[in-house]
Amino acid sequence: MALIQNPDLRRALTERIRYYNELGIYDFYQRELQVSPSPVREDAAAPSSPQPEQREEMSPRKSATVAAITEENNFEVLAPKREQQATDPVAALKLIREDLGDCTRCKLHKLGRKQIVFGVGNPCAELMFVGEGPGADEDAQGEPFVGRAGQLLNNMIKAMGIRREDVYIANVVKCRPPGNRTPERDECDTCSPFLMRQIAVIKPKVIVALGAVAAKNLLAINAPMSELRGRFYDFMPAGARGSDASWQGAKLAVTYHPAFLLRDPRQKGEAWKDLQMVMKCLGLKPPARADQS
Ligand code: SF4
Repeated sequence: MALIQNPDLRRALTERIRYYNELGIYDFYQRELQVSPSPVREDAAAPSSPQPEQREEMSPRKSATVAAITEENNFEVLAPKREQQATDPVAALKLIREDLGDCTRCKLHKLGRKQIVFGVGNPCAELMFVGEGPGADEDAQGEPFVGRAGQLLNNMIKAMGIRREDVYIANVVKCRPPGNRTPERDECDTCSPFLMRQIAVIKPKVIVALGAVAAKNLLAINAPMSELRGRFYDFMPAGARGSDASWQGAKLAVTYHPAFLLRDPRQKGEAWKDLQMVMKCLGLKPPARADQS
């Protein structure tokens, strides 16, 4: 890593890293201007019209090699995260929730949120779903995916032969963006460390990113849904690397956000293909239909 000669810049960087350490982030990524990932699709057929989910184009971010900051002892030895001292995942998640507190770290705290929507489900889940952020229903009830999109997600989970209580569900940002707008880059960057810590505690076998925002934030790549879907990515949350030899990270798949499927039900078949890929990985079989028994 090149030395940073400017002392002001070094001091600012030190402060910034200390801030991220407090949030539980210990690994850092280098942002680049242009990223053109070329994922290998399992279903090679290119999607025809209608054009699939297209929301924001977030500023590109690249999952470059994790770079430990070691320059000239400029940075303190990093203390273990609080949840690593916990005896079980329930206690660990509670510690993360306590760290989050009545969070005011990003501007979403003052843009009309009623409450923080932390996450819900089985703390030992093999399967985790990650969306982009709470909507109005979720903001009112304090639980992710409880509105119409949540009903559809429940149906998707049921079709996989499991129950909502079996999985864990969370979002990239934990406060509702006003008017259900897409969470902005700085909001995602500020809030997602807590999601990473949740994932590191739950240690799922598979994560399903629901929609482009979740996918781009988790994978730190900027690509259209047509390229993101149809394959697994190896995923290890930032800061969790090497913390548990028994967990080598999760497989991450990308599918459409249920809210998008409500707007364009023609894409449900494509989403079902994604879920079948996940089911195969987890050894799940869809429940037998009554008329087949
Ligand atoms: S979205 Fe996340 S970082 Fe922003 S205020 Fe809410 S909890 Fe804090």
